[in-house]
Amino acid sequence: MVYVLGIESTAHTFGVGIIDSKFNILSDARSVLRPSGTLGIDPGEAAEHHSRVAVNVLLEALDKANLKLKDIDIVAFSKGPGLGPALRIGATLARGLAFKYNKPIYPVHHGLGHIELTVHLTNMKDPLVLLVSGGHTAILAFNEGRWRIYGETLDITVGNLFDSFARRLGIGFPGGPVIERMALKGKRYIELPYNVKGNNVVFSGLLTHATDLVDKYNKYDLAYSLQETAFSMLVEVTERALIQTDKKEICIAGGVASNNRLFNMIKTMAEDHGVKVGRLEGDLRRLNGDNGVQIALLGLLYYEAGTPATDLDKTFVYQRIRVDEEDVPWRM
Ligand code: AMP
Ligand code: MG
Repeated sequence: MVYVLGIESTAHTFGVGIIDSKFNILSDARSVLRPSGTLGIDPGEAAEHHSRVAVNVLLEALDKANLKLKDIDIVAFSKGPGLGPALRIGATLARGLAFKYNKPIYPVHHGLGHIELTVHLTNMKDPLVLLVSGGHTAILAFNEGRWRIYGETLDITVGNLFDSFARRLGIGFPGGPVIERMALKGKRYIELPYNVKGNNVVFSGLLTHATDLVDKYNKYDLAYSLQETAFSMLVEVTERALIQTDKKEICIAGGVASNNRLFNMIKTMAEDHGVKVGRLEGDLRRLNGDNGVQIALLGLLYYEAGTPATDLDKTFVYQRIRVDEEDVPWRM
């Protein structure tokens, strides 16, 4: 049996996941930063948090998996995209472990981890993927060796939209789940900017407008209207990409995939086309948000595809790196 340890540290979450070569999830330990400021996640504060919790999260993951460090066969870490100082904490720990125990190391793309984890666990073959999280908002399909982007946000992500609006209401991170609960109490739709450009979405105008209305309208109506507008935009572009790619399955991945309203809206659209929709539910729901398991899975997939491990002095981090820059050898 091969054991893979994955380290996640792109943004708010420091996570360590351990899986085996049959893709049994042996542990999923995490610590999530609750940002103190009013501007969202400060990169320095995230790095400080990650370095403080790193060892304990690592030990917790090993303990739950009932393994020792020397039992680990492969180390993987999130190379980006994310906050530079935060990424370097995970990368440094991964390099240290790979060096001390002389193990292969794989720097992997965080967003690709969300995609592959969800596609694997929902047993989908060749889906259109709606990746919606704090770091990503994109529609992707696999084509000629890579996950290609068929539509995306041109500015902020949908997770950011909710978190920023929630901060304006004095709600702490993560704001998305609170907005979802508030939206259930909304009774009246307030007209907000709907901004779709081809297959792409633009959210910053929507955020500014909704934020400007906070003192003028009922906050439950605003949360409801914000969600309805943002999700209608996402459904429109997902439907267009579905028709263009002619896929028979849709997979929703990332933290915002936990939102039931989004899931039901996508499902209604998909049913019109006779297309199946999946996301992580039940016990697996917690894997929608950032975690070390999605990173470990990629390490395993590269290893099994015969991809050589990366030389330690080439294990860089990248604040910006797109999913469509990554070769996906296990799907070729
Ligand atoms: P991730 O970056 O994948 O960890 O996802 C975190 C993002 O997902 C944050 O922006 C959260 O506010 C958002 N999120 C989590 N749960 C929900 C939900 N139920 N509805 C909307 N957004 C959510
Ligand atoms: Mg993420």
